[in-house]
Amino acid sequence: MPRLKIMSLEESVRHEEQERMSAEIFRQKKARYLFDPSSKIPFRLSRSRLENFLSCPRCFYLDRRLGIEPPGMPAFTLNSAVDELLKKEFDIYRRMKKAHPLMERFGVRAIPWAHPLLEEWRQPFKGISYHHPSLNVVLYGAVDDLWVDEERTAMVVDYKATCSQGPVSLEGPYRQAYKRQMEVYQWLLRRQGFVVSETGYFVYCNGNKSLAQFDSRLEFSIEIIPYHGRDSWVEEALSQALACLTKDSLPNSSPDCGYCHYRQRAHSKEEESTPEPEAGSRSSSELSIIVQKGRMEAYRYQFGVGHKKRTPPLAREAAQQRELF
Ligand code: SF4
Repeated sequence: MPRLKIMSLEESVRHEEQERMSAEIFRQKKARYLFDPSSKIPFRLSRSRLENFLSCPRCFYLDRRLGIEPPGMPAFTLNSAVDELLKKEFDIYRRMKKAHPLMERFGVRAIPWAHPLLEEWRQPFKGISYHHPSLNVVLYGAVDDLWVDEERTAMVVDYKATCSQGPVSLEGPYRQAYKRQMEVYQWLLRRQGFVVSETGYFVYCNGNKSLAQFDSRLEFSIEIIPYHGRDSWVEEALSQALACLTKDSLPNSSPDCGYCHYRQRAHSKEEESTPEPEAGSRSSSELSIIVQKGRMEAYRYQFGVGHKKRTPPLAREAAQQRELF
């Protein structure tokens, strides 16, 4: 039998007011990221949300148009630590205006780029951004690093960490997203007026699991893998993503998404096995809401705030429902 936490009347009023305020703050925050077809304000879209559109237009629409975000994932803190340390390491050579020894080992004729905006371009909610005038959308994405050669040609660099047997490669379905990520950065950088090499680089760190023991350390082998990017798809994808958000109906979902198959199967099983509620009966959550609201009414009634001199109906029902708990 569900049990209710009994609050005092004052606590109930305070609790409801706090909930109302946090719901309002949450709504306002969220509204800033949602697409509004009638708004003239440029719509900000991150590279990762554009990738969401490419993998499933329905999820993208639910998220950016209707405000239903997919469940979050815990942060990959070990990968973030590798990124941070690599940034620090390449920054040492950036300050010295010298190539990192790894760049020499893998035949990259460039040095880490000491561009004054690099720190801003690395920040997750700023990144490199471009306002597309006719679509009125600002696409942005944060780079890990940029290198530059003697002809001032910029190169996009992405750090990756993994732990796989054998040499790492750029093959496989989810690594296609890595390639698109690099191509979006190349596109964004070109929109800033820079000459950008079609060749970008992945600095790939591969953890070694075959050591005899952990001994408080993880060893990595590091490779620099060149990738020849083609950014011609980006503008079209951006335009399709905006067209998707402008519609008033849900787009199709991705046929390959395991989570959606799970969701649909679970939903149909739940429908099959949930007994029909008896006429007039209420669920425990409905009952608890009645009890809370009844307390509020009783409180306002007691202190004469805008109530007629009679027992408020919800307070009366709440008093009856309390008997059930
Ligand atoms: S297929 Fe379903 S669960 Fe999967 S990403 Fe799309 S809407 Fe979300």
